[in-house]
Amino acid sequence: MAKIYLDPGHGGSDPGAANGSRTEKADVLRMALAVGEKLQAQGVQVLYSRAKDQDKKLAVRTAEANEWGADYYLSIHRNSASASATGNEIWVIRTATEKTAAKAKTILDAVCGADGLRNRGVKYGAPNYDNFAVNRDTNCASALLELGFISNQSDNAVFDAKFDKIALRMAKALCEVVGVPYQTANAAGDVNGDGKLTTADAREALRAAVGLENLTDAQKKKADADGDGKVSTSDARELLRKATGLEK
Ligand SMILES: [Zn+2]
Repeated sequence: MAKIYLDPGHGGSDPGAANGSRTEKADVLRMALAVGEKLQAQGVQVLYSRAKDQDKKLAVRTAEANEWGADYYLSIHRNSASASATGNEIWVIRTATEKTAAKAKTILDAVCGADGLRNRGVKYGAPNYDNFAVNRDTNCASALLELGFISNQSDNAVFDAKFDKIALRMAKALCEVVGVPYQTANAAGDVNGDGKLTTADAREALRAAVGLENLTDAQKKKADADGDGKVSTSDARELLRKATGLEK
């Protein structure tokens, strides 16, 4: 199973960049958790460098990802410069292979497609030194993503307004990067595994919800239409509505 290490930058006593009361550490944590949730729903294993507001040294983050055997490492940040600087960019190690750069481009293009901000491109190394530690010290392919400029009010407005879309597109891009086909909502409800969502799937979910049938963990995930972690009659109802075209 594919493993992605998601690293929301900064944390704890290190807020990263800030704009008024808005902090980079909070923005990127929120985004990392949203992306990770979508990845896990696709069966991707996710390990977060931090899932809350805490201090964690860079060396500890990269060592943890290496130890875990991550297939991909994504560090998520927000940029800061003059108030007019705008757009998304992504950084790879200076010596990145074409493959690593292409993976980064997949993620960056997806983000720009979601939020409509300027695509500042895939960049090599780091602004003022050789490499970002998260790229230098990881064994797997990696990148450091700068999600817009926290110093730009308009970038911040876009970050908030397009948050869900950015998270979804980023999750899809990350699935592509690790070779996992992204299942649409319909396929995700395919409890009996015949490749489509039909009333039969809703029936399976209903039988499971009322205890007439036991589903495998994978089936439970697919039957759990509202994603609350359990299969209930409301999931069966939702699947039925989707199967009959009453709901998308
Ligand atoms: Zn940062």
